Amino acid sequence: MERPSPDRLLRFSAAAASVRGECVELGAAWQAVLARHELPPAVRDRLGELIGAALLLAATIKHDGALILQLHGDGPVSLVVVECRSDGSFRATVKLGEAPIADDADFTSLLNANGRGRCVVTLDGTSGDTGHTYQGVVPLDGDSVAEVIERYMSHSEQIPTRLWLAADAGAVRGLMLQRMPSAGGLAGEVDEDAWPRFTQLAATLEPAELLDTPAEKLLHRLFWQERLAGRDARTLRFACRCSRGKVAAMLRMLGRDEVESVLDEQGVVEVRCEFCNEAWRFDAVDCAALFVEGLAPEHPTRQ
Ligand SMILES: [Zn+2]
Repeated sequence: MERPSPDRLLRFSAAAASVRGECVELGAAWQAVLARHELPPAVRDRLGELIGAALLLAATIKHDGALILQLHGDGPVSLVVVECRSDGSFRATVKLGEAPIADDADFTSLLNANGRGRCVVTLDGTSGDTGHTYQGVVPLDGDSVAEVIERYMSHSEQIPTRLWLAADAGAVRGLMLQRMPSAGGLAGEVDEDAWPRFTQLAATLEPAELLDTPAEKLLHRLFWQERLAGRDARTLRFACRCSRGKVAAMLRMLGRDEVESVLDEQGVVEVRCEFCNEAWRFDAVDCAALFVEGLAPEHPTRQ
């Protein structure tokens, strides 16, 4: 069993670029997520697959900024959010309801128990003035994370896409294949069979094999008769973007009355980041400073 040491994406292309692929592997970065969220195994594994899927999507869609994958569930899991940025950083959070969750609960019973779950993909630009936001919404149409994302891709991006994803307590691994539009007008033969050939080879992949095989080895094992080109690896990492300044801005939006009432009740205002579980604490002095004109938002930390 070889678990990933680097956290990375590996891109390749094949058959005169008519098939493109990406592998994702997470070890330490996945551990950083798990250290911050206590999750039942069934939810943990689906979250891992969703992170893998979001990173693969982000790698495919040409976009500078953030890709946010949100699953709104109508079962015991009410929300999953994965945010990937073009610098390779990502973060994720899960909201669970009250219902107990079996260890072997499947994707549908977790997120689409009544058929009303939905998947929202948001592309958020880098900054307010140059960035733009695009949002696509699809029903949770499929029995697995891979099927839902495949349908999203054929719907929204109109690129035939296949995904294989697996996650457990130790690792996340995934493979994406995409059929690229053939380069019309260029000399040379078009390899019409490449897409069915590649997807049939990858269809033999079981989750356990995917989890235990490093990307390079997996590509060799599946596609050893093919000529793969354009290998390009990019590093991934867990990173949260919360800060004391952002929490302060949020408290200011909430207003003085609201902040003071929490302060009266609890003696301190504590805001916990749902992505990284960091607790940002504001005592009476910090709270008073929030509403003093002209004070910088980055008030020195008082913990
Ligand atoms: Zn955070």
